[in-house]
Amino acid sequence: MSSVRPLLLLTILVSALPISAQTTATELAAAHDIVRQIDELQARLQPARLASDLVGRSDAARDAIVRRTTELWDSEMQSLSDFIGHNPEVGWQEFSTVDTLTAILRTRGWDVEVGVAGLETAFVATWTSPAGSGDLTLGLIGEYDALRDADGPFHGDQHNAQTPIVFASAFAMAEHMASSGTAGRLRIYGTPAEEVGPPAKIIMHEAGVFDGADLLIRSHGVTQTSRARVGFGSCCLNINEVKYTFLGKPSHQLSSWHGRNALEAAVHFYTLVDGLRSTLRPEASIQGVIPEGGVAPNVVPQRAVVDYYIRYPDPVYLEHINRMIDDAARGAALATGTRVEIDRYGEYRDGISLGTLHELSFAYAQSFDAGNVSPEHSRPSGYEETGVVTKDIPGIGISVFSSREANHTRGMLEDTFSEIGHTGFRISAETMSSVLYDFLTRPELRAAVLEEHTTLAGLLDQYHETLRRAYAGEVGGPISQR
Ligand SMILES: [Zn+2]
Repeated sequence: MSSVRPLLLLTILVSALPISAQTTATELAAAHDIVRQIDELQARLQPARLASDLVGRSDAARDAIVRRTTELWDSEMQSLSDFIGHNPEVGWQEFSTVDTLTAILRTRGWDVEVGVAGLETAFVATWTSPAGSGDLTLGLIGEYDALRDADGPFHGDQHNAQTPIVFASAFAMAEHMASSGTAGRLRIYGTPAEEVGPPAKIIMHEAGVFDGADLLIRSHGVTQTSRARVGFGSCCLNINEVKYTFLGKPSHQLSSWHGRNALEAAVHFYTLVDGLRSTLRPEASIQGVIPEGGVAPNVVPQRAVVDYYIRYPDPVYLEHINRMIDDAARGAALATGTRVEIDRYGEYRDGISLGTLHELSFAYAQSFDAGNVSPEHSRPSGYEETGVVTKDIPGIGISVFSSREANHTRGMLEDTFSEIGHTGFRISAETMSSVLYDFLTRPELRAAVLEEHTTLAGLLDQYHETLRRAYAGEVGGPISQR
């Protein structure tokens, strides 16, 4: 979870709050009819009522699974969380962590595959009930990459706790399903590098790793126990990550006329992008660096790289900005006699948040005495940061108070080892088990989740179509081509 500017989208209208500075008039107009349809869906599904019925009923099996989850957390998983917390590894380098986690899974008889989707530190672990695989696969997502700063890697976003929480819940569920003869499959997805691109979960999704999961669940350390409002949104705007590699021709500077200067192309390009800003909508956020720009001053640079993060509240106008920047790169290459290769290596999009699962998770977390409960709904966002998986598979991100300090801070790291963190993580695991158990055993919940997800995914497409029409007059190719 990064701490960039928040995106408020459709829900502003739902709640009739004042219009946020981050919400464009175009988006609000495009969303109008869609918000009405979301309201109608919620009125029909009544997620808060469904949640209070499920949480309030007496169910001895559920309560036994929760007790077992607590026991597993207290006896093993809390120390595992601390251990990972004290041995941080940054994204794509989480080799020891993955060894530790997968060894535990193998000892417990899970079928483990490391290196899925061609990612060395990604894994999938599957447990199939002795009663058979049944019709349902419950998926649990665990992250484990640390943040990096000048003092080295540290778990300032509490990813250290995520997989231990998943283990406490999944192992309790497996024991229950085995002893009660309940068919079904549990699958744990070890997803690397949340904090650095390219987005691992999209690579895994495109490789089919999440195929077959009926539900995906994960938790993340946060400063408030909360639930998201229903709708579409992302933690940190829609983002394209694009790398522009300029290729020239080397030559000694004393005979520079034989060369073609890739660094000059990169510098022209960087300046051209700044020149575009005056005709872009003000919500655009564009940041770039030049990580490669030549080797020695007396050699004409043959290769230079410019790396941009391009952000906008919606993906339609974002495409327009991206196209203009691509054209600027081509223009700079043309002007300098070089060539440019464009690699869009990452995309983050709006995800879907489901009222059915958020209200249920929130009600369970409160029943376990989660701290610092926010009565307000947070902005909508998917359960994972890319948004793309969220759009295809229903799921929930559990948010239980586990730190008094903001995400990505040393204070949050301290809390990961403290009573605040330990308690929040235990409650996250208990909440996870409760939601998984209800989804496994309650057809009416599954039906409501599926209906809500299918409807919202369709509305998200409809919203983008409406935006495309709304922007028609200001986006598109150069003036001469229109
Ligand atoms: Zn995070």
